[in-house]
Amino acid sequence: MTTNASNRPLGTGFLQHAAARPDDVALTLGRRAYTYAEAASVARRWAARLVEACGGRPRRVGVFAYRSEAGYFGTLAALCAGAAFVPLNRKFPIARTRAMLERADLDALIVDDASAAQLPELLSGLKRRPALLLPGDGTWDGPAGGPVLRAADLAAAPELRELPEAAPDDLAYLLFTSGSTGTPKGVPITHANVRAFLDTNQDRYGITPDDRFSQTFDQTFDLSVFDLFMAWEHGARVCAMEPIELLAPFKYLERNGVTVWFSVPSVAAVMRRRGVLAPGTMPSLRWSLFCGEALPRASAEAWQAAAPGSVVENLYGPTELTIACSVHRWEPATSPAECVHDNVPIGQLYPGLHGLIVDQELAPVAPGETGELCVAGPQTTPGYWQAPHLTAERFFEHAGRTYYRTGDLVRRQGAELVCLGRNDQQVKVGGHRVELGEIEAVLRRHGCTDAVCLMWPDEATITAVVTGADDLSALSDAAAAALPVYMVPKSVHTVDELPVNANGKVDRGALRQWLDSRTAAVA
Ligand code: AMP
Repeated sequence: MTTNASNRPLGTGFLQHAAARPDDVALTLGRRAYTYAEAASVARRWAARLVEACGGRPRRVGVFAYRSEAGYFGTLAALCAGAAFVPLNRKFPIARTRAMLERADLDALIVDDASAAQLPELLSGLKRRPALLLPGDGTWDGPAGGPVLRAADLAAAPELRELPEAAPDDLAYLLFTSGSTGTPKGVPITHANVRAFLDTNQDRYGITPDDRFSQTFDQTFDLSVFDLFMAWEHGARVCAMEPIELLAPFKYLERNGVTVWFSVPSVAAVMRRRGVLAPGTMPSLRWSLFCGEALPRASAEAWQAAAPGSVVENLYGPTELTIACSVHRWEPATSPAECVHDNVPIGQLYPGLHGLIVDQELAPVAPGETGELCVAGPQTTPGYWQAPHLTAERFFEHAGRTYYRTGDLVRRQGAELVCLGRNDQQVKVGGHRVELGEIEAVLRRHGCTDAVCLMWPDEATITAVVTGADDLSALSDAAAAALPVYMVPKSVHTVDELPVNANGKVDRGALRQWLDSRTAAVA
């Protein structure tokens, strides 16, 4: 890896810290702490096996693991080997993971024991089987057809000393997000993209080796890259929390001396609803950061009271713009009056990024008017993974820059932006990005003529209305088998014909009214 200037590939700071302060703790996982020296040694040994098994520098390495050594060290090992990491999630249906695996065309796959049970089904009949690294204790009895490296092989590997050099335009990671056409779409992020994000955020947060980061996000969510690499690139510690600890994280935060909190706002909302977000309960925090969906004013206020020594911030951004691209600092005295629809503003774009607010013809709107936010700059993905038609839809050139169309409707308010919703059918469920169109496509494939999904009866619940379905429970089962839990409609209703508006489009308002009236009639 190069070590010069701002073009340092992801992982450089981690390795430098491992050399300078090897005994600092890089990761706590359960009650076990791993030093930088230990983490770097494991990463370099696994990287050596990756290079060996792939016959040279691998391009893309899957990390199929969940809050385990394989997940954290696998990510580092992929980077040490000069590859992009591709996180996969055993909580997703196997068919979905398999689609990602095929699309990513992986050279190798690092798998923890708990995820390995899915491997035989995941790999059978795959055109090109990746080399497998299985660092756990489990045995392998899946299909042959490629190298399989187990714990003993990995432990016996020499550390890779000369690391393959990653260029700024090489991919650092590849993530898949919900796609409206029925399959997840790949978002590749380069080393230059993620370095621009990290540098901006380091200027803002001044992370030091004394900092300790919460790690609340699954690795298939790009916000996890903030947790891991804002910490590791600056010598700090990652504290991997179990999901159960999120419900009341106070003891965990205190025991681990966590200083940087980062989660979706839903976590704060759930804590507030359960009545556990009491004043002064999180004294160790110095930064309280939220991203991924709208941050309600009441959550910001309650969190600020619970963590009075911290600065609360609302970060905003799509995966395509590398983790986050704008931020509002919560000021208890002034921010409440700046909220719109009771949500905290999304603030100002990061320095060095360029924003446009446009109408449907991509013409800039008048100052103060609402339009779609488009952003250009060093954090913009080079385009969707192997999908030039999708890239053509969402990116455009303007004044010599490439802008990404976020689909978010925003308005300028003073020097800041406020977010007012979407101009399409993308929604957030507990912070997860969901294209309702993807669910509709899955339903159509599994036994109905047409399908429309909407958020009903509240903003957190997906409901489907279908036509031409013989067996609604079989349809629900098929959706549950094909989609992650958070995308499965809570209820499926059937109509003879979908109502349409004057433009011939499905009239979602009329469907909502129909659902309301049906419920009222039943009541
Ligand atoms: P993802 O790519 O999963 O990070 O989702 C990105 C989308 O989440 C954005 O385009 C917004 O619609 C939404 N989002 C992210 N952060 C915020 C925020 N702070 N306020 C409102 N919406 C947000």
